[in-house]
Amino acid sequence: MSSLLDAYAEVAGRDVVSHLQQLTSPLKGMKVVHVNSTRTGGGVAEILEKLVPLSAELGLDARWEVISGSDEFYQCTKAMHNALQGLAAPISRPLLDAYEETNRDNAEELRALLEEADFVFIHDPQPAPLLGLCSARRGRWVWRCHIDASRPYRPVWRYLREHVAAYDASVFSLPDFAQALPHPEYIIPPSIDPLSDKNIDLPQDEMEQVRQEFGLDPERPVVLQVSRFDRFKDPVGVIEAQRLARKFVPGLQLVLAGGSAADDPEGEAVLSEVRSAAGDDPDIKVLLLPPDAHRKINALQRTADIVIQKSIKEGFGLTVTEGLWKGKPVIGGDTGGIRLQVVNYHTGFLVRTPQGAALRIRYLLQSRDRMAQMGSKARQFVRENFLLTRHLREYLTLMVGLHYGARYRIELG
Ligand code: UDP
Repeated sequence: MSSLLDAYAEVAGRDVVSHLQQLTSPLKGMKVVHVNSTRTGGGVAEILEKLVPLSAELGLDARWEVISGSDEFYQCTKAMHNALQGLAAPISRPLLDAYEETNRDNAEELRALLEEADFVFIHDPQPAPLLGLCSARRGRWVWRCHIDASRPYRPVWRYLREHVAAYDASVFSLPDFAQALPHPEYIIPPSIDPLSDKNIDLPQDEMEQVRQEFGLDPERPVVLQVSRFDRFKDPVGVIEAQRLARKFVPGLQLVLAGGSAADDPEGEAVLSEVRSAAGDDPDIKVLLLPPDAHRKINALQRTADIVIQKSIKEGFGLTVTEGLWKGKPVIGGDTGGIRLQVVNYHTGFLVRTPQGAALRIRYLLQSRDRMAQMGSKARQFVRENFLLTRHLREYLTLMVGLHYGARYRIELG
């Protein structure tokens, strides 16, 4: 077994890697190309960075191509992203022209590769027009939408739909995120990479260092929420929950960790609401972390007794997955993808109010055995459902299905 496959077998299980190998066998040597618009930054790049080498080690001829374009192109795709998420703002014709032109330019470079590929995965709206520009394509093309397109701004969706309707299939992250399209649609939820800095096991002294850096007392319980400072994440509600729970759990510490909100005016406003709600309480730490503080977030998640994600509205909620993976029960808002991950009384608790969150914090901290049992179920639940290996397994299954249709049957050993 190769080193990468070995590393995943160690953390996800040998049977999981063996299933991947069995699923790949009818696809051996096939050319798979993933296309997106950035090599670094953002969840899509993070996933592809591992998914593509892993596919290659399994025996696929897998590649990752990145398109690039003018400022107008990025302005246009940013506007498209916002519109898919519901912002009612039209996109001007000159911006759409730049979008189409960038795709034409990139098609010149990529056409030979894409036309001869067996499978092409086009991620998000940026490279969507490539299909229409590769008229001699021979493989199956899949549009992989990572965005919550449940309530798109219609005029922009109608435009984009013209580009994606001709694909052989599309993939959305959650059923709620999908739009009707004239081809098979699949649901493949997101995943975390257990070998990334954000999720890998850490040495005890690194966790101790982080505890000291942020002034956390190891003798007293810690509740943690990691989130952008956004009202939908309800950080002020988390403070209220901590204050209520503290009456029964003396010395309870709360950490709210988020990124600097300097380039986000709304984030700035939420941060000041959070600061004023926290006041000068020494047991509420509001941390502003740089965007690459992955190991620190990892250490905080491992140091915490309970992870909370009290969102009022949420896409999938990767912070929930990350917390569960660290063996912590998660108290999560009863919304969006949090519902897929938090199973009441098993991996955590779903709540709707600060009072509900406080009640669950109190319950868990006063039932340590129960908390440990739930924590180990939480980790197991992520191992089975939300690791990168499951994500890849579903892509492989999709490829076998698209290529062979009903003609091929795989018995997994
Ligand atoms: N995150 C981070 N720094 C922060 C806040 C969040 O690195 O200050 C990470 C977090 O660990 C998670 C992702 O950003 O991996 C947030 O994903 P999620 O789905 O929870 O929420 P979103 O921000 O996409 O709404």
